Amino acid sequence: MTQIAHETDPDDIDPSAFDMIIDVRPHGATSARLQGSIFVRLEELLASPATVIETSNTRVLVTCDVGLRSAIAVERLRTAGYFNTTSLRGGIDAWRRSGLPLSGADGLTSVQLERYDRHLKLGFIGAEGQSKLLAANVVVVGAGGLGSPVIAYLAAAGVGTLTIIDDDTVDSSNLQRQPIHGIHDLANAKVDSAEAFIRSLNPDVQVVTHRTRLETSNAAELLAGATVVVDASDNFAARHAINAAAVAHGVPVAFASVYRMEGQISVFDASRGPCYRCVFPDMPDVTIPLDCLTVGVLGSVTGILGSMQATEAIKLIVGNGQSLLGTLVLYDGMRQEFTRLPVSKDPACSVCGDQNA
Ligand SMILES: [Zn+2]
Repeated sequence: MTQIAHETDPDDIDPSAFDMIIDVRPHGATSARLQGSIFVRLEELLASPATVIETSNTRVLVTCDVGLRSAIAVERLRTAGYFNTTSLRGGIDAWRRSGLPLSGADGLTSVQLERYDRHLKLGFIGAEGQSKLLAANVVVVGAGGLGSPVIAYLAAAGVGTLTIIDDDTVDSSNLQRQPIHGIHDLANAKVDSAEAFIRSLNPDVQVVTHRTRLETSNAAELLAGATVVVDASDNFAARHAINAAAVAHGVPVAFASVYRMEGQISVFDASRGPCYRCVFPDMPDVTIPLDCLTVGVLGSVTGILGSMQATEAIKLIVGNGQSLLGTLVLYDGMRQEFTRLPVSKDPACSVCGDQNA
């Protein structure tokens, strides 16, 4: 048997020639990998190689992200007498760049493994979380200032179905804060330019559009089948209608609103905490103009709040991370300050309170 080299280039490797492939990436178990590889913590491997590798003659390929951890592992293993070990030079990144096949990550295609690579490297998403994102249906109410970043980031994240509800057309005054719409979309339906934006970004996303105004009468139907609802609407009537339908369907809502340079954000889920109405019980006089149509607003502030909503939606879908359920966050763009306020379920809530049980 010829002595194998300390490091081997991806193009010179035949994985089937090895008795074992050991992946020493800390996040390995949730990532795309060489077929047949097993995950072993580097510390564990170095502390007791005999419990992992059968004999000193066992032919072992060691892999990691860029070939540094695996090179260290091989050097130490060789010092311990395991001379048939080699490190994948350049790691799995180089393997991928050479167009060589990866597998094992929960039914994701090789194109998806590449597209969502940075999710796969995040322990809290990983392949399992990415599969959940691809299977999710997020209903986004509003394709305006908040909806634009929400739609952009959820589409990029690979949410499998984005259902977009908006009855508005694109106006030139929207372009200051709604970057999914462009000058060629003026006077067209926002749901159409939102759909075109998503299609140009990510073919994994199915787009469902409803060019309609969400109201109490149609909210339950429009929110049916949602994994998560994102309330990116700009008026109290819509928020209350979304809330009532979401409570009825048992679906969590990632809520935000923006006023001038300030914003607020929370997650509502009546099955585990407060609903919107628990926190905002009174519907203000609708003659008071509080929407973006009539007051000033900074586009980057809607960008911050919308990005936070997308983050909350993703955490809810993958079922990991601490959501804002039970916390209302206030954001002050002038001072760049966040304030966290605890909020809780109101037993007397007219939507989710005890009398409705
Ligand atoms: Zn409530």
